[in-house]
Amino acid sequence: MKQKILILGAGFAGMWAALSAARLTALHERNDIEITVLAPQPELRVRPRFYEKKVETLVSPLMPLFNVTGVNFLQGEAQRIDAQGKCVWYRNAQNESTIEHYDRLVIATGSYLRRDRVKGAAEHAFDLDQLETALRLEQHINQLGQQPDSAARNTVVVCGGGFTGIEVATELPHRLRAILGEGGAPRVIVVERGNVIGGRYSEALRDVIREASDELGIEWRLGAEVAEVDEQGIILADGERIPSSTVIWTVGVQASELTSQIAAQRDAQGRLHVNEFLQVPGYDDVFATGDVARATTDDKGNIALMTCQHAIMLGRFVGHNAAASLLGVEPLTYRQVNYVTCLDLGGWGAVYTEGWEQEVKLTRAEAKKLKLSITSELIYPPKADRKIAFETADPLAAFV
Ligand SMILES: Cc1cc2nc3c(=O)[nH]c(=O)nc-3n(C[C@H](O)[C@H](O)[C@H](O)COP(=O)(O)OP(=O)(O)OC[C@H]3O[C@@H](n4cnc5c(N)ncnc54)[C@H](O)[C@@H]3O)c2cc1C
Repeated sequence: MKQKILILGAGFAGMWAALSAARLTALHERNDIEITVLAPQPELRVRPRFYEKKVETLVSPLMPLFNVTGVNFLQGEAQRIDAQGKCVWYRNAQNESTIEHYDRLVIATGSYLRRDRVKGAAEHAFDLDQLETALRLEQHINQLGQQPDSAARNTVVVCGGGFTGIEVATELPHRLRAILGEGGAPRVIVVERGNVIGGRYSEALRDVIREASDELGIEWRLGAEVAEVDEQGIILADGERIPSSTVIWTVGVQASELTSQIAAQRDAQGRLHVNEFLQVPGYDDVFATGDVARATTDDKGNIALMTCQHAIMLGRFVGHNAAASLLGVEPLTYRQVNYVTCLDLGGWGAVYTEGWEQEVKLTRAEAKKLKLSITSELIYPPKADRKIAFETADPLAAFV
């Protein structure tokens, strides 16, 4: 009887996990191990680009790639993991409750944005978290020009000044000017709890973000807390109201709720703690990867971030190790020593840093060129060619 590796999720981590597991079983010429990806769609949704225009185009089909590499695809959404019974209950494409058994389970269901912690945010704010929500925001922005001129129409409030908040805020001035036309007077306001711009980042990176913000005319409300979002805009904790018909929520990313079904240690963001082989301690047959895994990246104790940079590599290692455990092969210790940041700063350009200390290496047009090559080439799935797919899925190869 065939043994089964079941991978939940077809994002960066899930897709690379499938290719890497398929690579190792092919190398060992084993046809008795089946690799199946279970996800709502057989496509990679390129979340890091959701602040851009034409969101509907930011997907990449996966069936051609899965077909040439021998990966099965099951369309559906996992609902319940039965770790004792080694099976997953899921809703299939016909909305029927169905069961799938596994010998090794890889949880790669990513993360989602929680908007329920502030009154009115879930009902009245937009976000960029998923394809559908980012599309809704884009459609809303595109029709602002047809609304009567008002302070609320012309003002976009971005809640949270982290990377996602900064990328969308810096992207907007140019887009709003084109949509609102002459005399539109667009304003972009970032509301940030911290007292300095980019307080979580290195001083050098902070300086660049500040310079770009100033040049683009972005306003920051620092040390400010959003108390409520309503149809007219936001109300800050100090009572100030900012009229806005476009409030964008960017804070509060959490690991997929499925992680709560495994009785194991999780961090504040709901990520499952994993060992060096990306197994969940206490469950030899359950692995976690990408945004659902809290993994140590190096010997210095740095922890993987919820980034696609980490998800891609975590995916390659987890697929290898899930297959290795069935093949009786030694697993590989997950290591990802290099860490870089490439932050889009809209019309100003971008900034590229290296290392966990975030040393600024490139800025403006040079960094923008690099950002474009990362987001439009590097993070996309490999070509649907078995040899290329397996070469790039090797966790020890030098690919990013
Ligand atoms: C606006 C934005 C900007 C970003 N910018 C950057 C950036 O510049 N650089 C960077 O490195 N990272 C960035 N990120 C983060 C990056 O997108 C994530 O870290 C990355 O997508 C994580 O990959 P993943 O495979 O773990 O999860 P995902 O890519 O989210 O994939 C999860 C997969 O699981 C599936 N799934 C979910 N629930 C279920 C279920 N119950 N059953 C079955 N399947 C399920 C989903 O459909 C999807 O296929 C950004 C994210 C956002 C939202």
